[in-house]
Amino acid sequence: MKAPATTIFEHMSGLAREFGAINLGQGFPELPEPPELIAAAQAALAGHSNQYPPMRGIPELRSAVAHYYGRTQGLNLSADNVVATSGGTEALAASLFALVAPDDEVILVQPLYDAYLPLVQWVGGVAKVISLTPPEWTLPLDALAAAIGPKTRGIVLNTPNNPVGTMLTRAELEAVGALAQAHDLWVLCDEVWEAMVFDGTEHVSPLAIPTLASRAIKVGSAGKIFSMTGWKVGWAVAAPDLAARIAARHQFLTFTTPPALQWAAAEGLALPDSWFDAQRARYAGLKARLVHGLEAAGFKVLPGSGTWFITVDLAASGLPADDAALAERLVREAGVASIPVSAFYAEAPETGYLRLCFTKEEVVLDEAVARLARFREQFG
Ligand code: GLN
Repeated sequence: MKAPATTIFEHMSGLAREFGAINLGQGFPELPEPPELIAAAQAALAGHSNQYPPMRGIPELRSAVAHYYGRTQGLNLSADNVVATSGGTEALAASLFALVAPDDEVILVQPLYDAYLPLVQWVGGVAKVISLTPPEWTLPLDALAAAIGPKTRGIVLNTPNNPVGTMLTRAELEAVGALAQAHDLWVLCDEVWEAMVFDGTEHVSPLAIPTLASRAIKVGSAGKIFSMTGWKVGWAVAAPDLAARIAARHQFLTFTTPPALQWAAAEGLALPDSWFDAQRARYAGLKARLVHGLEAAGFKVLPGSGTWFITVDLAASGLPADDAALAERLVREAGVASIPVSAFYAEAPETGYLRLCFTKEEVVLDEAVARLARFREQFG
């Protein structure tokens, strides 16, 4: 990953604007926004203080996060475990700044979200990169064990995985836990897609694994749970001593997070299961529509459990397996922006896969499929 001037997401959104393309690149919904959350934020702006809230987040949000994870993932948490942050990315940054010292080795797993590597490097950490094995994107436990050396301090995981949507199993996390315990490692797990699982696969957090409960940090995001990516409200969840160390970094990153949005997120997390089920069903329908449309047009889509994305296997779809070049052509010639999966690699990238975001209205997805199908005809 050559440190780009802008992220691949900005780059592709910029091209989408320039060429008037349908933007299935950067992950954000273009759908009606949840009125319950908007109303809660409006009421909070008028009804609560707009001055600095408590540095670690308003107690109501921290408790709501703890209850939400108790209810949805069976985790036994309290407000002491939670640090509210300005988005999941800030939670990742505060966590890595708290955990990584110069020359510490940190294991990253490719494909990886673009923020992990620069954040590790900014604090002088040394990334050791291993890769999930396509097309199932399974975690290579042997490679993970082999990557652990005397300087290794931690592992960054991501489940469900952005870009490919696969999830870590309890058995995999137990194996990670055994390694982490044997080598005294922390595990930072980006779980911002945890509420966006569409095939019934159980989301398992490292915090649910006994060997990891005191050494894992879970990162979550209200922007993802409530489909409002601009809100930038997230949190880090960890054992109280770890949470306090993360808060000590958060206080010099953003210090606090807009209080009205914290109140709204707290209210949102207390919505009934039926609200979350309905949202999930709507998104599952959109995902199925894009997948089936593409399959009917001859594209091969890889299975994935969660996130807002699907993965197209280029070679199996009869397309050149050069994802970056293809993404540049697609946005210009077909009028569809996508994200090349190779952008999620620090080294030795896979170049045969393209990520498409499905959180758009049905008519938009149908038009994107029609455009992609027409483009594909030239490859005969
Ligand atoms: N998380 C978003 C995605 O994966 C991108 C966020 C960003 O643009 N930095 O598409």
